[in-house]
Amino acid sequence: MSALRVACVGSGFSGAVIARTLAERAGLEVDVFESEPYVGGHCHTERDERTGVMVHRHGPHIFNTQFDDVWSFVNRFTVFRDYVHKVRAITSRGVFGLPINLKTLNDFFGEELTAETAPGFLEAQGDKSIAEPRNFEEQALRMLGRDLYEAFFHGYTRKQWGVDPTELPASIFQRLPVRMSYDDNYHISRYTGIPEQGYTQLIASILDHPKIRLRLGQTFEASDAASYDRVFYSGPIDGWFGRRHGRLRYRTLRFEAIYQEGDYQGTSQVNFCQESVPWTRVTEHKHFAAWESHSETVAHKEFSSACGPDDTPYYPLRLVDDRSTLAQYVELADREGGNLTFVGRLGTYRYLNMDQVIKEALDTAEGFLAAPHDAARFSKDPL
Ligand code: UDP
Repeated sequence: MSALRVACVGSGFSGAVIARTLAERAGLEVDVFESEPYVGGHCHTERDERTGVMVHRHGPHIFNTQFDDVWSFVNRFTVFRDYVHKVRAITSRGVFGLPINLKTLNDFFGEELTAETAPGFLEAQGDKSIAEPRNFEEQALRMLGRDLYEAFFHGYTRKQWGVDPTELPASIFQRLPVRMSYDDNYHISRYTGIPEQGYTQLIASILDHPKIRLRLGQTFEASDAASYDRVFYSGPIDGWFGRRHGRLRYRTLRFEAIYQEGDYQGTSQVNFCQESVPWTRVTEHKHFAAWESHSETVAHKEFSSACGPDDTPYYPLRLVDDRSTLAQYVELADREGGNLTFVGRLGTYRYLNMDQVIKEALDTAEGFLAAPHDAARFSKDPL
């Protein structure tokens, strides 16, 4: 087993967790290729030069998970500080808390609803003519009714995804809880926190093992695959095959920095739900790290747009056309994938959170150790 040669392409959570598990559990030597000069992929954090604040370079990342094994894994490599994510949403009717909870409902409708009366009130708001919601919009209208949907979701979703919410799957809406209490934690997970020294340090520490060789600033070429028994590839699947069947569509993000003395918006994340405001949200990074103190602040305005061939892909669109293109790539991977296993958000073209990526990476590594000569083609079925 220890003679097997393994490569991980990409040093986000997928590559790092697989490399660490194989090195640690089976003494395998693993080469990790990273085209950037730093590790971390989309989770990359670094200190802002001007303010010293730890910034999440690719948008806000709040670690949260229900999985015990994922939480114990990441806690081996860094100290997690307590952090509960609370989002404020600016709408045409004022500023409210998200996710929708008792406070949001009472503020929005000018009511004094309780845990007992709110469910009936919300039920009466919902559009009951929709029996089986087929998309994002129908799901939201069924659950919340038109007033809440239009104030919080319609404009934001059109900006974020660049398509009408009727074209998106209901599962995207279901990411957000609706609470009949005053709990305004954005996440429902049991465990949540922020790594004290940022995600790049956490991933560097996962990769810090004598059997792991990190090749920073090195792009993995197709011809490199022949030097390995197995390659875990976390780049975009269409890119690996030279986009032979066309491009899988993604949304990309652009960030505009705002600097000032003191505090900018008084909280870590404010969403701008109106379609007339061109950005989706503003992240003020120092509020992720209440244990630090900085006299200046830096906030990032986030703009979403269609991802061009040279842009960084963030959110997979996964609409009907993309799914049929994806099916062609899956078929191609099965036929011509050689010794590759496609992993993670880009490798399997799915909208995954960090903890899901880690969970799948742990499972993929264990699966490989159990049957190294019969390795899976994907960390999870992309279709
Ligand atoms: N969403 C919205 N308004 C908001 C926040 C979220 O319409 O103020 C919708 C939007 O479609 C978004 C989805 O809910 O893409 C999921 O939101 P989440 O905050 O989970 O997105 P992420 O942080 O992954 O970008």
